[in-house]
Amino acid sequence: MCVFVRTLTTVNPTVERINDPVAMQYRAEGARRQGRRIAVVPTMGALHEGHCSLIRLARELSDLVITTIFVNPTQFGEGEDFDRYPRDLERDVALAKGAGTDIVFVPSREAMYPGGFVTAVTVEKITEVLEGTIRPGHFRGVATVVAKLLNITRPDCAVFGQKDAQQVAVMRRMVRDLNFGVEIVVAPIVREGDGLAMSSRNVYLTPAERAEAPVLYRSLQSATALILGGERNSETIRRSVVRLLAAASAGVVQYVSLADEGTLEECHVLSGGDRILVSLAVRFGSTRLIDNCVLDVPS
Ligand code: AMP
Repeated sequence: MCVFVRTLTTVNPTVERINDPVAMQYRAEGARRQGRRIAVVPTMGALHEGHCSLIRLARELSDLVITTIFVNPTQFGEGEDFDRYPRDLERDVALAKGAGTDIVFVPSREAMYPGGFVTAVTVEKITEVLEGTIRPGHFRGVATVVAKLLNITRPDCAVFGQKDAQQVAVMRRMVRDLNFGVEIVVAPIVREGDGLAMSSRNVYLTPAERAEAPVLYRSLQSATALILGGERNSETIRRSVVRLLAAASAGVVQYVSLADEGTLEECHVLSGGDRILVSLAVRFGSTRLIDNCVLDVPS
């Protein structure tokens, strides 16, 4: 009897695992010399469908997909969840492979930050609002580690998720300001069936918090409806969103922002043609959830 097993892994029968940054650099350099187009997908592991969508997009855009898995200590603040951040490397490698990764780069903390490490990348202004006000130093850690990952892999493009909208703005600014010569590609937010944006941190939610969490998405939809319905006063929209969040959950609203998508400067009065980022952060117990949407204000 002949049994055919159809697997979802159609692209790469094997996945290469590299731990050493120097070995990764040589491997990427070799591929580049052969004319291969490289895409990198930086992650902290605990992969879910959101990460996989980034990897699939990277697959479409390149000949060699490198997924990096590194829980970067420098982007976690004092008292944040670095120690309890979910880690399951074997599962991550299987998911990365299934989504089309060729190489999984998994450096150690010591390899990324060897003794004597004193250099950092600071992106100013756009890191000082929104997440930056609540997580001081976070984007310094992100910019530094991504700069290192880009230097190690020297890709043609790097794929990030719209889920972390401010991170996208910071990355765009950094690669422009420092001439990285890398294209920043942004993939849409992947959501659960009830609208909750997928996140590695959703596992921290209690069942009651998880049941309330989709209100973030509903409140973004209500902000969108207000804007499409003609409301142009951002304070009115902000208040309405805060009311909705407060009525539907025990979460503590940290910010609701309507800002220019590129500069992240708050928009007080919206104008037709503006491209705005509506973003919010809500704390459920010790778990922070963020979500956002981008929209073009109609004329
Ligand atoms: P992280 O592992 O949380 O650092 O995320 C790695 C990348 O995956 C970042 O570019 C995130 O924006 C992206 N990402 C995380 N969650 C989602 C999601 N639900 N949809 C799309 N991209 C996501």
